[in-house]
Amino acid sequence: MVLLGKLAIVTGAGSGIGRATCRVLARDGARVIAADRNLRAAEQTAKDIGIDHVVALELDVASLESVTKAVAASIAQFKQPPSIVVNSAGITRDGYLLKLTEKDYDDVYKVNLKGTFLMAQQFARAMIEHHVRNGSIINISSIVARISNPGQANYAATKAGVISLTEIAAKEFGKFGIRVNAILPGFINTPMVEVVPDKVKEDVLRRCPMGRLGRPEEIAEVIAFLASEKASYVNGSAIEVTGGLK
Ligand code: NAP
Repeated sequence: MVLLGKLAIVTGAGSGIGRATCRVLARDGARVIAADRNLRAAEQTAKDIGIDHVVALELDVASLESVTKAVAASIAQFKQPPSIVVNSAGITRDGYLLKLTEKDYDDVYKVNLKGTFLMAQQFARAMIEHHVRNGSIINISSIVARISNPGQANYAATKAGVISLTEIAAKEFGKFGIRVNAILPGFINTPMVEVVPDKVKEDVLRRCPMGRLGRPEEIAEVIAFLASEKASYVNGSAIEVTGGLK
């Protein structure tokens, strides 16, 4: 129970890595706010894990108004802001550069990069104002930030941006006792990957030394480590969890 007494908020909690993260953080003793723009999906996460441990919250990370409401709602309900913030909300809108629409570029930017910025800024500010110590913000980037898949210029650019944002936030927030780290998952078996063409998945499996997709729980376990005091000197890092995929 390494997270006993901790309060966490997880975005994208209605699916995939976010949902698995809620389960693992709750198992380790944290109270968890499962936040997603899809409230019904977040409620399902809470119901599956147990509403004593997990509460659902509607949140659109791309909207400053929605994020500030989430800060206020967590303080109203728990008398303090969360000390653990997991930014797992993310989308893909793949397309080759010459065909990529402005809307698909903007939508991915707003959720993946601006959303991570808004969450980190607003929740760190609340932690500082409420004198929360030992904060941990965990941002979900992607190995695609490093391997630059054709057809994913918008997605890869946002995920590379998440690494830079993480490194700078780590430098700026360290003095407040808030650590900020990023995880770069490889290909993980979630609804996001279900839409990837079979040919691409077969290529990934060939290039992955472990020869299989990852499970959402395998990302969630690393998130739980970063959230805990076991990682008390891990700050500003970008950790690849890819089965060795390069
Ligand atoms: P997922 O199963 O599609 O879950 C993402 C969740 O985020 C969905 O419930 C989605 O809701 C929600 N969401 C989207 N936009 C949102 C917004 N504006 N505000 C709040 N919630 C929002 O994806 P996943 O595979 O778990 O991915 C989680 C994170 O890991 C993402 O950042 C992704 O880029 C990253 N990642 C995933 C993989 C992988 O292989 N799966 C690899 C590397 C990195 P909707 O269903 O309504 O969109």
